[in-house]
Amino acid sequence: MPLIARIALNRPLRRLFDYIIPEDLELTPGQRVRIPFGRQQATGLVVEVGVEPPPGIKLKPLSSAIEEWPALPQETFKLLSWASDYYQHPLGECLFTALPPALRRGRIAEEKTEQWWHTRDHTATLPAKAHKQKALFDWLRQHPRGAPTKDILQAGFSRAQLNALREKQLIEPILPPRPNSLEQDSELDARRPELSAAQALAAEELAVPDEGFGVSLLYGITGSGKTEIYLHYLKEHLNARDQALVLVPEINLTPQTVARFQHYFGSRIVVWHSALNDGERLTTWLKVRNGEPVILVGTRSAVLLPFTNLRTIIVDEEHDSSYKQGEGFRYSGRDLAVYRAHQNNCPIILGSATPSLESVHNAEQAKYHLVRLEERAGNAAPPDISLLDIRSRPLEGGLSRPALTAIEQTLTKGEQALVFVNRRGFAPVMMCFDCGHMVECPRCDTRLTYHRRDRAMRCHHCDYQMAATEHCPKCHSDAFKPVGQGTERTEDILASAFPDTPVVRVDRDSTQRKGSIQGILKQVNSGKPCVLVGTQMLAKGHDFPNVTLVVVVNADGGLFSVDFRAPEQLIQTLLQVSGRAGRGTKPGKVLVQTCHSDHPLLRTLCEGRYLDIADQLLKEREEGQFPPFRAMAIFRAEADTMEKSLQVLDTIKPLTNAAGIETWGPLPAMIARRADKHRAQLVLNARNRKKLNQLLTGICQELDQRKLPAGTKWMIDVDPQET
Ligand code: ADP
Ligand code: ZN
Ligand code: ZN
Repeated sequence: MPLIARIALNRPLRRLFDYIIPEDLELTPGQRVRIPFGRQQATGLVVEVGVEPPPGIKLKPLSSAIEEWPALPQETFKLLSWASDYYQHPLGECLFTALPPALRRGRIAEEKTEQWWHTRDHTATLPAKAHKQKALFDWLRQHPRGAPTKDILQAGFSRAQLNALREKQLIEPILPPRPNSLEQDSELDARRPELSAAQALAAEELAVPDEGFGVSLLYGITGSGKTEIYLHYLKEHLNARDQALVLVPEINLTPQTVARFQHYFGSRIVVWHSALNDGERLTTWLKVRNGEPVILVGTRSAVLLPFTNLRTIIVDEEHDSSYKQGEGFRYSGRDLAVYRAHQNNCPIILGSATPSLESVHNAEQAKYHLVRLEERAGNAAPPDISLLDIRSRPLEGGLSRPALTAIEQTLTKGEQALVFVNRRGFAPVMMCFDCGHMVECPRCDTRLTYHRRDRAMRCHHCDYQMAATEHCPKCHSDAFKPVGQGTERTEDILASAFPDTPVVRVDRDSTQRKGSIQGILKQVNSGKPCVLVGTQMLAKGHDFPNVTLVVVVNADGGLFSVDFRAPEQLIQTLLQVSGRAGRGTKPGKVLVQTCHSDHPLLRTLCEGRYLDIADQLLKEREEGQFPPFRAMAIFRAEADTMEKSLQVLDTIKPLTNAAGIETWGPLPAMIARRADKHRAQLVLNARNRKKLNQLLTGICQELDQRKLPAGTKWMIDVDPQET
């Protein structure tokens, strides 16, 4: 009897496909194959080998194996299979997510080796006129290991100059050096971060690779030097052949962090993030797959890379919501990292100044080991946070007089100030003061944000935009004005209040161009007086030693939200943004503008003790029977009318009937219409995660068999971040 292979395809199908294995072929799970599929050839991944063929079905043979080795090694394969089951996402799509785009399309897993160059004759003389060639020759001479063409071009030289030197036999092409040989750099080996006494104590408590699996929750206040601890830990515990994974929320925003890792580990550091091109992805992916001893610093999807010798995992800013994938395969990078550490029998460190309530709860349950680091590194002290009630104060660009005075004093002292606004653009809405009309997005249930720099009104939930008008589109009155605060407006006010000081805006609009964030960081790190204005982006991990004042324009957004996660997120953002103040030698001050200065949550914020706040919030979660005390999943539906969306969920609801499982809804989503899709949701809340998982598996299989009305779609989100 012929052997059968069960194959997964990169399609949203909860089923696999059986093919006959040709006689001369040996296959293992995780291997890529080519198969006839319909009238085409498709790329598939082997899931199982040697299964019984289903009776009465005539199977086709698969065409060929793309490589002889499994693209997904066993451990990665198991991780993804587990994730597919846990998040109820089709196995094929989960597996293919772990391949670089080139390999998903079936390309052969070979990298184009990069061309490197080095100098041959160190005493060569060039004609006096060949300035540029001489410069290139000298430049290369300063790189004794050689340099890749890419770097040479980036340094401002041309291919013509390269070729000229080559013809003169002054330089020659070489193979790129292997990382292993670079690692023998004794200078790098000798570099070791020096820990303070408090840091050393914390570092001692972390789980170590020799003891197998263990989760350490490193609660270190902002500026306590967590990165220093990670670096020290890797130096201490990583052998020359080991691989390590360091997950970070958004790498592009914190090039400094990568530079700090490179300072200690040189080319052993490789990065992984969304801005890499296909070629770079393939190269890095192959390094990881080949077991090279990399320390990979990457964003969410790095947790899916095919490590073969993973010795330790670090998740920085573990509370960050960007670890959860918001569409398609909706996994949590942090949670998968914990699972992966378990599966690999290696330690994992979850670090944060504001750990997620899930992780705090796990620490309280003694599943994680809590390590506290409650003093700042160097001589820095925690910032002094105070509330500034703005109920009866006149505001300019959202800023009160006391806030402007505080900024002025900061600048006079030669220091820097940071102003946090939670909305980009000029103003969140344009409103007519005659007829009350507010401009809404024609495709979403939201208002258009006014962007004055581009004279446009934009929807931040879909791509819609229109030209800004001076008159009310409805009654043509000219009493048509921006209402509320955006970063652009605050920037303008600050620029006119402090005409002699640079005002630097940091938000998604101002950092769109490649490299622009680097320019901004450079300016801030010069230490000269300036005012930074920006969104969330400014709250993330930056180390600005000369920022001594942080002003939060408005803290009230999350206070009265219906989302059960809103208070947690508000406190995390406020503490993180506050944490940018006073990280150097000078003390930091934080002013939080609010209309609710007596709100208990904001009052506890001023004391700055996050774990106490977390405890309080956890009590509320327990009373409300929310995660982490319950397991949650959401069925979401989308359709061209709300009625259809609700109908889809109405048909799902009876399937959710089970003991210990509560169902809420179906109800329209918070933003019910988005990009012309009407969205609804059905929330499942369960005492027992395992039971919920089993129920969901059954429902999803059942739904796959059913035919939905045209134009409708359903999705499942396990451990949702957005409710
Ligand atoms: P965190 O990530 O905990 O907010 P960082 O790792 O960014 O903190 O460190 C904050 C600042 O303190 C950085 O400028 C870092 O270089 C400095 N720092 C950290 N540890 C030490 C130390 N042991 N001695 C002196 N400076 C330190
Ligand atoms: Zn009007
Ligand atoms: Zn819209």
